[in-house]
This record gives sequence, C-alpha cells and structure tokens, in this order.
Amino acid sequence: MAELRLNSPLQYVKGVGPRKSAVLTKHGLDTVEDILGYYPRQYLDRSNIVPINELKIDQPATIIGEVKAHGVLYGKAKRYEVILADETGNISLLWFRGVKYWERLFKKGMKFAVTGTPSYFQGLQLLHPDLERIDEHSDQMVHAGRIIPVYPQTSELSKVGLSSKGIRNVTSFVFDHLSEELDDYLPKTFLSKHHFMPRHTAVARTHYPDDRDQLESCRRRLAFDELLELQFLVARNKGRKASITKKRTYQPPGDMLTDFKNGLLFELTPEQKKATREIVADLQGERPMSRLLHGDVGCGKTVVAIAAALYAAENKFQCAFMAPTEILAQQHYRNWNEFLSAVGAVSAILTASSSAAEKKKVAQKCADGEIDILFGTHALIYDYVSFERLGLVIIDEQHRFGVEQRGKLYAKGEDPDLLVMTATPIPRTLALTLYGDLDISTIEALPPGRQPIRTVWRTDDVRDKVWQYLRDEIKSGGQAYLIYPLIEKSDQSNLENVEDAYRELSAGPLSDLRLAIVHGRVKPKERDAILEQFRIGKIDILLATTVIEVGIDNPNATVLVIEHAERFGLAQLHQLRGRIGRGGKPATAIAIAHPPVSAIARQRLEYFAEQGDGFLIAEADLQLRGPGEIFGVRQSGLPELRIANLWQDRQLMEIGRTLLEPMLTNPENLDSDSHKLYNYLTRKARRRELNLGGG
Ligand code: ADP
Ligand code: MG
Repeated sequence: MAELRLNSPLQYVKGVGPRKSAVLTKHGLDTVEDILGYYPRQYLDRSNIVPINELKIDQPATIIGEVKAHGVLYGKAKRYEVILADETGNISLLWFRGVKYWERLFKKGMKFAVTGTPSYFQGLQLLHPDLERIDEHSDQMVHAGRIIPVYPQTSELSKVGLSSKGIRNVTSFVFDHLSEELDDYLPKTFLSKHHFMPRHTAVARTHYPDDRDQLESCRRRLAFDELLELQFLVARNKGRKASITKKRTYQPPGDMLTDFKNGLLFELTPEQKKATREIVADLQGERPMSRLLHGDVGCGKTVVAIAAALYAAENKFQCAFMAPTEILAQQHYRNWNEFLSAVGAVSAILTASSSAAEKKKVAQKCADGEIDILFGTHALIYDYVSFERLGLVIIDEQHRFGVEQRGKLYAKGEDPDLLVMTATPIPRTLALTLYGDLDISTIEALPPGRQPIRTVWRTDDVRDKVWQYLRDEIKSGGQAYLIYPLIEKSDQSNLENVEDAYRELSAGPLSDLRLAIVHGRVKPKERDAILEQFRIGKIDILLATTVIEVGIDNPNATVLVIEHAERFGLAQLHQLRGRIGRGGKPATAIAIAHPPVSAIARQRLEYFAEQGDGFLIAEADLQLRGPGEIFGVRQSGLPELRIANLWQDRQLMEIGRTLLEPMLTNPENLDSDSHKLYNYLTRKARRRELNLGGG
C-alpha cells in the first residue's frame, strides 16, 4: 500500500473514488491535510459496552448484537424497526426516516455495534441510534470499542456514503498510512513551558482520543492555535492601517465646536470630554482614525459622536452617520439637527422609507457637498449615495452591521476616519482581541443624575399587581414600556404577543390609560409618529417588541416590563433596561418569567435583578451562554472560531500575546523559531484576507 503524505489527494485513500472526492472538494477537502482539519463534532464513548439487559433509560450506551428481525411498521408514522439481540435480551431500534435505506441495509444475522440513548415506549427502544457494522471476516473493528469521532454531516456527504462513519473510514485509513507528521510551528521550548501538546498529536488525538481527558488537552492546544491566528490577523490589520497617510488636514477646534458645547442642555462628563479629546486628536493625526467608542447603554456616546461630526464639518469634511434601525436614525436626526443647524452645520437623513423623490434630492445634495452630516440606515451604503468629500464615518451600534456593510460605507470616502460605537459592553480581554485593531475610548460612568434602576423578576401570576403598579406610576407622571417576544399569535408557540396584549390590556386592566404599539411591522412613518407621541407624553404605555432595544431615548420613561424574560439573554435584558432611568426619576424594571423557567434562565434572571453594571453583565453573559451573536464575533469580520471559546480560553490569549508581541514589534529581527511562526501565521492570514476580499 502506497504511503500517504500530507499533500496526497484524498482520492488515494482506499474507498474514495471520483464521486466521493468531488463532494469532498466541494467541502474544501482536497488533501490528507485538509481532512485532518475536519474535526469531529462530538464523540461516542464506546469504550464501555453494555449488555442489553443493563441498559437504562436516558443513559447513553453502546450494545453489540445481532439482527433478529427487521421491517417497516405502519401506524401514525411509518417507521423502520430492527430487533437486535445479545445473550441477555433484545431491544428495538427505530428510525422514522430513510426507510428504503434501512430496508436495503439490514439482513437477519448481521452484527452491529449500536450507540444511542434508550427511551421507553412499550419497552426499551433506541431511536435513530448510531450504527457500526461488525464484519466477522475482518478483525478491523475500527470504530467500536473506543471513543469514536462523529463528524459534521451534510446531506451531500451522506449521499455519496460519507456519513460520519464513511468519513471515519477515511480518517482511520489516513492515520494508518500517513508517513509524515504535521509540522509544528511553535517552538518546542514554548510547548513544554506552557504544557501544550505537539500539533500533530493534538490533531491525531482529536480524531482518535485514547480517553476523555486527553481530549481536553487536544482542545487546549488547537484552541490556542486558533486564537493565535485570530490575534495575529487583528494585529496585522492594525499594522496595515498604520501605514496609510491620509490626505486631510484639520485646523484646531474652532467656534462651531465651542458653540455647540455651550448650546447643550447639559455639561459633558469628564469621560465624554476625554473621549472627545481623543477623537479630535485622531482626526488631526496623520493616520486614518479607527476608534471604538465603547460604553454601557445610556452613558452618552451619541453626543461625543456628534461633536466629532461637527469637528469634521468645521473642517469642511462630510460625515456619514449610520445607525442600524430606522427608529434610531430618525431619533438621532430629530434630536440633533436643531443643535447642528444652530451652529451652522447642515444635516439630513436618508432611510429606506424616505420617498423616492426625497432620496434623490438628499443624494444629490450630498454628492454636491451641501450636506455636512448625513444620518441614515443601511440606505447609506447604496450606490446612489455618494459624497463630495466624505471624511468621517460614524457607525452606531456597530455590532449590528456586517463587515461588508461597514466596508461599503467606508469605501465612499478616501481612507475616511472611522468611529464605531457599541452599547454592548465587552469585557476588556475580548475587546482587545475582537477590536484589537481599533483604539478604544471607554465611557464608564453614566451621566450625573441617573438613578439606579430597581430590577425585580417575578413569575406571571403577579400580573395584576404589575398593572396596578403601572397605573400608580403613570398617575405620578411616569411612562412605561411593555416588551413582548412576539408580534402576533403564533402556531408554533403560546408566547405572549404584543398585538393580543394590546387588545386585552386596552379593553381590560389598563383601559383608563393611553396605550400604543410599535413593532417591526408597523410602517416607519407611523412608528415615528408613535414614538414622538410617546416622547412628548401623549402616550402612557408603549407596548413593543424588542425593536425598542436599540437606543430609543425617552428620559421620562420610568417603568419597563418584560414579558417572557426567561427567553431573553442577559445582555439583551440589560439593553432593554437601558431604555429607562434616563431622566432624574427612579425607575423600575420588572422581568416577568413564564414557567417553565429552566435553572439557567433562573440564574440569568437573578443575576439580572441584582447586577446593574453592564460590564459585569457582559462577562456573566459570556459565561452563561458563551460568546454569542451579541458580541458581534461573527459580524466583526474575524474568522469564526471552531474550537476556542473566547471567554473560557482567555488565558490562552494572554499566552498568545506574550508570544506575538516581541515578534510584532520587531519583525525584521527574528530568530529562526519566531521566523517560522511568523511565516506560518502570515501565510494563514493572507489566505483569510483573500477570502475576506481584502476586508
Ligand atoms: P448611548 O451611549 O446609549 O448611545 P445616549 O447617547 O443615547 O446613550 O445618551 C443617553 C441619554 O443621556 C440621552 O438622553 C442624552 O441626552 C443624555 N446625556 C448624554 N450625556 C449627558 C450628560 N453629560 N449629562 C446629562 N445627560 C446626558
Ligand atoms: Mg446609542
């Protein structure tokens, strides 16, 4: 048998013909090395084989037995049944899909290793178990009797016989015949210092571990590699930006900015002033600014961004100010356009709901340079929008945008300065990784006069008390938000929905109050009108879906009620809570949970009730649910992590930093070990950048 090398095409693997290899190629798997990187999605522990009469309900196990009978069962649902027996008893295996396939597969007397979780229905049964044929004529029991890998599946792969088991055949063949090892780009001394496995061992044992403990060591090594690549990519990005010289010059801040600050209804907090100074310095600098303005909900980032926009305007550069929702863009425009025009800056707004004529007019003015600050939604990135001299791009709630969207706006100027904002507090370690190519300004303290928000969580049987509380609160001059998870009744669930609630509450418990409703399907014009009515106090209670999560500002709102709070993540709950307590009055958030409330949801709600600090919430959120969408990991444009967990593996990032830092500060002068690592990471990064289209 010919030996396999890392770059051998997978076609050389026994059993992989042209048909299979074509499908593998489609999945990015061409060579032996590629398949080594196709990590298992989970494992089945077959190291403990159990006699059938010792199977227990809900306890995963493997049995080995012989097919006694098999055939289709008709009933409410057609299904395929196999009766499998060993010396101690028999059990029924059931499949609700793929009847034809099973019909062809099973023959009486065949032996199988079967792994699954027993359930009980007129006797013990295994539903859709994992199967391994045991061939009497070969002693090759590759897949049973140990911890075996289960590979990610696609229907295309299964169709050509590359189910998890089919891929297992490929990987086990590969490991049996591989004549070389994956090179390790990390120095040996480094590995032993930090107790990392060699790369080849880590990869090989990830596929075929000896035991469970070993798996964690493998994971740790591979996670380190993954994070290291990520860190390198970010650092490289930063380096690239630092090599651009921009063609804009700024004069020191003049009257416009001073007048603006004097005209504000409040004084900027020290942190707002500091952030403004940092931005002003960046704008005056030689390199394009890349700054993240970061701080908890309601800390007052917008006014800082507006000051930046004005400073650009003062220097005759245009600013594009993009927000993720219509509501938010409108609100920014409405809140600031008077202040702006008072000091001589022209602002305008462009969103999807602007009329065609309006869009045309605004786009024309913008192209002619007559608009200084253009607020808008995604509508800003369309081709018909152009700027005469776009100098500054501001992106609010940046984690709501994709890389491409941000890139498109950016491309409308010539290396414009970039200010992104996020209301999602990010733990420091993460911020450094995800946004390591950005400079960061943080606003930690809320503006003065904010009252802490009292937060409680209750189960839904206290609703009547809540309505009474609302009524009292509104009598004493407050306003409230009621948040629902759904717009309307759904067949799939019996969650509360905003439309039914509106009907019921306005007819019953809250009929004496002025209610209104907004959600994603209310037309933008109408929605704006409602929000405006709410803002000026003509509406007492706003019933809404989470469309209000982002940035809505009504300082007079003092109560927030969240229905089905058990369904929301911590960070989202916190964002919602940020809608209240914005004025000087004490505020209350009431999270209503509808049973059943899982243990983890309960933990979340308790933490939410006791913790008001957004940064701590963000960390807890990470621990409770792992780095999810909310941190914009995906949107950050960085590669998705397959193995590492940004939170759990944060120490690995620290180790990575110690490895990378000397290398990055002095790339001309590397010893041979560092040189090897540097080259490897550069190669990887280039491949990524090609995939990102240069992003
Ligand atoms: P976020 O950082 O969440 O975007 P906003 O910019 O919307 O917060 O500000 C929240 C509220 O705080 C707004 O009503 C804003 O006018 C107010 N605000 C901002 N800065 C100050 C300040 N220095 N003093 C008092 N109120 C302020
Ligand atoms: Mg905001």
